[in-house]
Order: sequence, then C-alpha cells, then structure tokens
Amino acid sequence: MERTGIILRGREFTPVEGRIVVDDEGRIEAIEEESVDSDDIILPAFVNAHTHIGDSIAKEAGGGLSLEELVAPPDGLKHRLLRAASRDELVGAMATSLEFMHRSGTAACLDFREGDVAGVEMLEAAAAAADGAVDALAFARGSVDAMDAGDGFGASGANDAEFAQEREATREAGKPFGIHAGEVDASDIDPALDLEPDFLVHVVHPEPAHLERIDDQNVPVAVCPRSNLVTGVGLSPYADLAERTTLTLGTDNVMLNSPSMFREMEFLAKLSELSATEILRMATINGAELAGLDYGVIEPGREARLLVLDGGSANLDGARELVRAVVRRAGVDDIREVIAAPEPDG
Ligand SMILES: [Zn+2]
Repeated sequence: MERTGIILRGREFTPVEGRIVVDDEGRIEAIEEESVDSDDIILPAFVNAHTHIGDSIAKEAGGGLSLEELVAPPDGLKHRLLRAASRDELVGAMATSLEFMHRSGTAACLDFREGDVAGVEMLEAAAAAADGAVDALAFARGSVDAMDAGDGFGASGANDAEFAQEREATREAGKPFGIHAGEVDASDIDPALDLEPDFLVHVVHPEPAHLERIDDQNVPVAVCPRSNLVTGVGLSPYADLAERTTLTLGTDNVMLNSPSMFREMEFLAKLSELSATEILRMATINGAELAGLDYGVIEPGREARLLVLDGGSANLDGARELVRAVVRRAGVDDIREVIAAPEPDG
C-alpha cells in the first residue's frame, strides 16, 4: 500500500513531500521524498489518553449539575442512568462511540472502565462490535481480577480508597497503573503520588511542591481540558506541567464531551501557551508510549496507523503552517481516510 502527500514525519512532524510505503504486515516500510501531485496531509492516527466511554448512554445529560452531582458514585446522575440501562444498550452505545472515534482519526483509547471483570468484558464486546478499528484498552477498576482481565488499573482517586494492594498487583502483572488526581482540589495529589503511579489524570490544582514531585518522579499527566471546562473545576497549568513531565491528551467522559481529538487539540491550543507541535505529540506519540503501543509516530518500522487529511478541503486549503492547521483548524470533515489495523488476511 502507498499513499502520497505531505507526510508529517517523526516526533517533530517535519513536513516531507512524498510517498509513504506500507508493507503487507501493516508496517511503515519507507518514506520517500519526491514531488507528488497530492495535497493530502498524512499524520499518525491519534491516541486518546483518557476516556470513559461507558457513559455513552448519557450524552449531554445533566446540564448545569456539579461534578459531584454528575459523576460521583453511587447516586450521581451518571450512575443512575447506567443502572437504568440494559447491558445491550450500554455495549451498543460504547460501540457507537468507538466507531465515531475511529472515523475521527483515533487508533486507540485508554479507557477507565468501571464494573470490575464484567465491565472489562463489556468494553471487549463493544470493541468487537466496532470491528476492532480502535484499540480500546481497559484500565479496570474493582478487583485485581479485573486488572488481570484488562490492560491496566484505572483508580478513581486517592481520597476514595486505599489502592496500595491494587497498585502492587498491577506492578507485578507488568501493567500500567493510572489514577485521577487534583481534579477538584489538591488534597489527593500527594497520596496519589505516594502510589508511584505510571500516570496521573487531570492535575488541575497542583501546588509548587506537587509540581516538584511530578518532576522528580517523572510521572506523565493526561490532561482533559474540555472536561475540566464543562465541570467548572478550572484548567491545568499546562506549561508548568509540560516543563516537568510528559503530557498526554484525553477527552474524558463521553457523557460530557464528544470523543473527538480534533476538538480537544483545538481547545488546548487556544487555552494554553503550548506549541502546536507539542499538542500534536500529546495527541499521538505520548499517549502511544504511555500505553506501550508501537504507533503514534511516522517512522520506518512502526505500525502504520495513519490519518490522511484532505489538505485541499475548503477548510484547510491554503494553510501556511500545516501542524498548526491540523491542531487548531482541522476537523472530522477534512478526513480522507483513516488507516486502521490491517485485515488478518492482508
Ligand atoms: Zn476520568
């Protein structure tokens, strides 16, 4: 397989005019610089570093409610709606979200999955129903068995429970342990860091000492700007965090936001001082590395999970700086093709 256009190559997304060659196993074989006829823009598909697609049945419910009224267990609106839905309804809505994520250019998501082992199985069923187009990684919650069945452990927050045992079991299994921290206030950041997590989620309210610890422990942070806007908790100090550690980007609850990485990138670009290149890295390679995935960057030998945009679309035509245009301007309508995992037959 070959595609031509402007290829955003490597971690710097250096624009290279030419041809990308993908072998039968779905790996990038070569990137050949040459003059081509196409104005397509070829970039790595996105890795959404933090989602809760389980609440896909509750899109736009609960306008105006506080974070606690919306999502706090056991009686937040989300949990009441989840209890009222059948398993088939829940799985069907999750599969629909995965289909949209695929069509909007996302290759993988790190999903915080509630409901113990049964919850992990529901995510697997949804991913299969969506033809496996998105690698839906389950960061399970509940028992150690759920972590074993899934791809890691996704803890709610250090004020909710002790997670020392789960953390240890996750380490022994060689899987990543992530935890929400500092979403509403700073009180759960130190206890979360004490668990030596593989990543934190949100970190809206770090104090200087927390930033120092994040730097010392070199803990990546998944930021979710649109979610933080909807719930009114504030915004993370993106530049302060980016100076100290690796950032990734997530769309958080489907209940609150469409899981489109284009929208998340645009908001972050316009709410922060971060460069477009840094934001595109957060949306691709940084999330891929956090999850141990072999894509998220265009280099020979990598798995070819790619996104092809129509650089001549009415929206993108004439853009003078391609990475800025992708991050700040492009959208689902500009997609020409999403190259997912190859069919087993080749
Ligand atoms: Zn979350």
